[in-house]
Amino acid sequence: MELYNSVDVIKNVGGERKKKFNKLGVFTVLDLLEHFPRDYNDRSDLRKTDEIIINEENTVKGVISTKPDIFTKGRFQIVKAKIHDDRGTVYAVWFNQPYLKNALKVGESYVFTGKAVLKYNSVILESPDFELYGEKELLSTGRIVPIYSATAGLSQKIIRSVIKSVIDDISGKIDEFIPEGIRKKYKLCERKFAVLNIHFPENDESFFIARKRLVFEELFLLQAKLLQVKGFIKKRECAAIAEDFDISGLTEVLPFSFTNAQKKVLSEIILDFKNKVTMSRLVQGDVGSGKTAVAMAAAYIMAKNGYQTALMAPTDVLANQHFESFSKVFEKLGVRCVLLSGGLKKSEKRRVYESIELGYAKIVIGTHAVIQDAVKFDNLGLAITDEQHRFGVRQRNKLSKKGNNPHILVMTATPIPRTLALILYGDLDISIIDELPPGRQKTDTLFVNSSYYQRIYSFIKKHIDRGRQAYIICPTIEEGEKNDLKAVEQYTEKLKNEIFQNYRVECIHGKFKADYKNYVMESFSKGDIDILVSTTVIEVGINVPNAVIMLIENAERFGLAQLHQLRGRVGRGAEKSYCILVSDSENKVAKERMEVMTKSSDGFEISEKDLSLRGPGDFFGTRQHGIPELKIANLYKDIEVLREVRRASEELYINDPLLEKEENQKLAAEMDKFFRETDNIDFG
Ligand code: ADP
Ligand code: MG
Repeated sequence: MELYNSVDVIKNVGGERKKKFNKLGVFTVLDLLEHFPRDYNDRSDLRKTDEIIINEENTVKGVISTKPDIFTKGRFQIVKAKIHDDRGTVYAVWFNQPYLKNALKVGESYVFTGKAVLKYNSVILESPDFELYGEKELLSTGRIVPIYSATAGLSQKIIRSVIKSVIDDISGKIDEFIPEGIRKKYKLCERKFAVLNIHFPENDESFFIARKRLVFEELFLLQAKLLQVKGFIKKRECAAIAEDFDISGLTEVLPFSFTNAQKKVLSEIILDFKNKVTMSRLVQGDVGSGKTAVAMAAAYIMAKNGYQTALMAPTDVLANQHFESFSKVFEKLGVRCVLLSGGLKKSEKRRVYESIELGYAKIVIGTHAVIQDAVKFDNLGLAITDEQHRFGVRQRNKLSKKGNNPHILVMTATPIPRTLALILYGDLDISIIDELPPGRQKTDTLFVNSSYYQRIYSFIKKHIDRGRQAYIICPTIEEGEKNDLKAVEQYTEKLKNEIFQNYRVECIHGKFKADYKNYVMESFSKGDIDILVSTTVIEVGINVPNAVIMLIENAERFGLAQLHQLRGRVGRGAEKSYCILVSDSENKVAKERMEVMTKSSDGFEISEKDLSLRGPGDFFGTRQHGIPELKIANLYKDIEVLREVRRASEELYINDPLLEKEENQKLAAEMDKFFRETDNIDFG
């Protein structure tokens, strides 16, 4: 038997059984070994017949006293066996399993586990699991018993015995692939021990040791592979060395003072600068928490010390917005900002390029235009990317290559649970702005079904009549799917012609040309459109304070993090805002998820809940992000192991950046197997 053989090489696993294993996702012998128990039942406490506790599960060793009876009672065929040990006699009954009458041999010893009840003064074990005591190791009784996810026709007992037979046959072939040094340092048991004891733990301690090893292994493969894909950034001596960290000039011109959370993050950034190694930092902060202001302060320090800053935003609209807010502040400070967008005329572009190359422009803001080859910086000290999840790693790296090893700051409003962030952004340090500026109004969130449409529409009209604006969001399965986009356009027509005849309704989605999108967004922003119907293209960063209603159709189709982002588009002005989630889904989890939205306005809390309701595989869409489903690690419980894993991965690459050393070959091979579709990974 080999690890990569199909399961039908195993004795007793043919035709039908093979199909059933396949149904559980078990195709190969290795899959079977990695079909880890979902739970355990401690049946290791063997009791004497006179120690049995009524109404509890008991495990008893005893001898079959006489040939079992079989009789019929109502719809049931009952097999009843008499069992004794040196202390007394008990009975066991099974329902509708007549073959047991002949399976149990008089005079033989068995171990039984089942619930005990008291009937007519006799102790009766109901439908106990049982195993012959003697030659073979006990698997279902008399020990800590594994419980697997099973399927009809594939019982726990069968799965246990198949897995045990495989372990016995193949344990010599279970290979160690974690390098000895790492194994010793992080106190990990050998793989062989781990596989055996995760299925059939000898005691609690051996279970914990086994599990730790397997959790470590799983997270380590994931983390090490991600770092490899991303191109591990070793902390290098930084070229942009700042001496002057005084930002009082900036704080004087800002119309507000920093929140404590902003100050804390800023001090983390400044500490990086002072350390004179290249900063790689992710700033996470809820929508509206003031990430841009933090970026301004970092850019200001760079400018004061003679370095340039580049800020890359995912859309023209956002780049424009940033340019406006930066210019307003930096004009007063005599620091020159320029905007590089797709729409610039050739001559304008040349002038902007020149000012960047000569170093007059200290802050360069734009979309992908910033990373064009033609753009040359004089001395780029800091590269900032905003709303990072829209960019791939490659673009981020390209931006950082524009300078001599500049500091990197990544800003994201996607509230990622810390555990996941450690994985997704394994190469970045993380700062969190966990507080909103004072005086923000909470957006009221309602969850309704489609029977409420008439009321919703008049609610929207009422607000537009008072001069406000509204968003209506439709889901698309994937931005750009033709039918869905058509649905958005048709729906807009319907709204225009049948419901909001007297209002200005426009539609925007990802397949429109950038110029047109900008035009529509600008019109909305100027108040020339009342209702903007959109797919999620508006999700990122848009700021129209006069929009106070966010209606989201088929809300169950969005991730909670995304709903939270969308909701963040309203509640930006002085007016009370509303987010209305419409869904007719009867699915329990879907409903729970909507309830989370109505109750919480904290992005991190929401994303933690989302993670726990949907599981990490689903969190970002597995397909989109290529994160394999985790077999054993739990991103909540295993944060400590994850920290160790992160350290171990860094040490791994520091010692052997390209994984060329002999001792790391097996690991490298295993990493490749772990991700089947490595090429699709492009996140973080
Ligand atoms: P985001 O984190 O979503 O990028 P922004 O930086 O765009 O948030 O800030 C949102 C709004 O809050 C902006 O109008 C900004 O001027 C304002 N703001 C930022 N920091 C503060 C603060 N400390 N006090 C008051 N308002 C602030
Ligand atoms: Mg922002």
